This record gives sequence, C-alpha cells and structure tokens, in this order.
Amino acid sequence: MSLLPTRSPAATSPSQQRDPDATAHDPATRAAALDLLADRDLVVLTGAGLSTDSGIPDYRGPQAPTRTPMTYQEFVATPEARRRYWARSHLGWGRMRHADPNTGHRALVEVDPDLLITQNVDSLHERAGSPRLVALHGRIADVVCLGCRRTTSRAALHERLSALNPEFGAGHDDAETRPDGDVELEASLTESFVVPDCDCGGTLKPDVVFFGENVPAPRVQRCYDAVDALGAGGALLVVGSSLTVMSGFRFVRRAARAGTPVVVVNRGATRGDALATYAVEAGCSGFLADLAARRVG
Ligand SMILES: [Zn+2]
Repeated sequence: MSLLPTRSPAATSPSQQRDPDATAHDPATRAAALDLLADRDLVVLTGAGLSTDSGIPDYRGPQAPTRTPMTYQEFVATPEARRRYWARSHLGWGRMRHADPNTGHRALVEVDPDLLITQNVDSLHERAGSPRLVALHGRIADVVCLGCRRTTSRAALHERLSALNPEFGAGHDDAETRPDGDVELEASLTESFVVPDCDCGGTLKPDVVFFGENVPAPRVQRCYDAVDALGAGGALLVVGSSLTVMSGFRFVRRAARAGTPVVVVNRGATRGDALATYAVEAGCSGFLADLAARRVG
C-alpha cells in the first residue's frame, strides 16, 4: 500500500479550507480507505465534523465564523468572566442537550473499534452506545468543582441556573449556538447573570478541557496505549477533525511513527493529511455507514 497521502497534502494551513468540490468525488481513494479499514483492529478519533449532522456546528469547518473561546486562565481569573461564560453556556446547553446521535455515531457502534477517542463534549457517542470510549476533552453534561473536585450533573445545575435567572432564557432564542455549547451574547446581557458556587464554596466549571488547560495525563495515556497496541496490522481512523489542536494530532503522529496506517476522513484539509496513508474528502456519516457495512457484512 502507498504510504503517501492520496489527497494532496496541505500546502496551506489546516485553517484554510480547500474547495470541497475539488476532491469530494474521488471514489478510488474512498474505496482504498474502506479496503484498508475493513478487517483491521482500529482506534477511531472523532471531532466536531461528526456531530454537524446532529445540528451541532463545527466551528473549525468550512464557513465557520472566527471565534475566540474563553481560556481556562480567563475563566478562573474573575467572577465577571465566569458570569459571561455561564450565561452564554446556559443558553447553548439548553439546545445541545436536545441533539440526538446521527448515522455516524450509530455506525461507529457497529464498526466497534478497540478504542473510540472523541474530541467532542456532546456525549452523543455515549448516547449511541459506544463502549470503550475516551471523551478526551470531557463532557459538557458534567460539572466539576475546582475546590473539592466533586463532579455533578449539568442537568441539575441547569435547573438551578434557570431558577436563579428566571428572566434570562427569554428573548435570546436567536443567539448563535457553538459546538462547545456556548452561544454569542452581548456582554451587557451577562452582567446580571447569577452563578452559584459549590456547597464547599468552590468554583463550578463545566467538566471540559478549556483552551489553556491540559487533558488529564491518565486519559492521554489510555489513548496512547490503545494506539501503540495497533502496530502495523491495525489502523488509526480520524473522522471529522481538522486535527488543529495537539490533543488529537499527537495520536496521529504516534501512529505514523510506529508504522500504523492512518486514514483521515474530513471535509477540508487537516494537519494530519501529510502523515495519512489515505486522506479522504468526505462527510463523516456516509463514510462510517459504508465502513460499518464492510466490517459487519
Ligand atoms: Zn466543591
């Protein structure tokens, strides 16, 4: 098999999107990738592109608006920043919680990888029923106290926030939802938002990895172990991620270094293309449905 990428490697940076129509219909690359993945032990890494069919926007995908997410350092620095975060996130999560797993999530249950690693915080793999899952960046449905580290449910906090801010939800229905459950809101609208602390007095934070924060080391190690176990006979499949952030890209580097074939399926160029055996320009759901049929059939 060729170890060169058959989607031409990115001469541009991953943030510069290619014209999807230029390479979208390359059936030979797609078929070769499906052949490669049909019978191998797999580790699968998924990103925001997988959840777009569930109505959760991919902020790094084509046509995505530029955004500057709140960093961990900003979040912990001031109560004002936390009010702003929770106000926007309150509206966003009220919508994200109603999203359902799509064809791609369900197909991955049948693909049955040795380990499924997701960069998504939307819990849709869990709801589809995927076992052996690492939510690399945590789950927006969980809340952690930065004082006592106790984890509680976002649904319970959502009810408290709704009760503490009864006027807030109304009138913001047209605010734009982001993939991390955040929405766009004017700062002036967030200043009066009431955010409770933990019973211990500690600061509550969604149990997701913010920019400026590291993925917990044991979580990363579990992923490395699964990738290392693949060897030359397995494969790493990346679906719906531009691999912009190092937290996911490092697994591609690890696999490539070990001689494990890598397949990248995405709309638009990715940072992993140059390391991939096949880089397939395709939507996630359709490709995964085809792969599930090959592996089950
Ligand atoms: Zn606490």
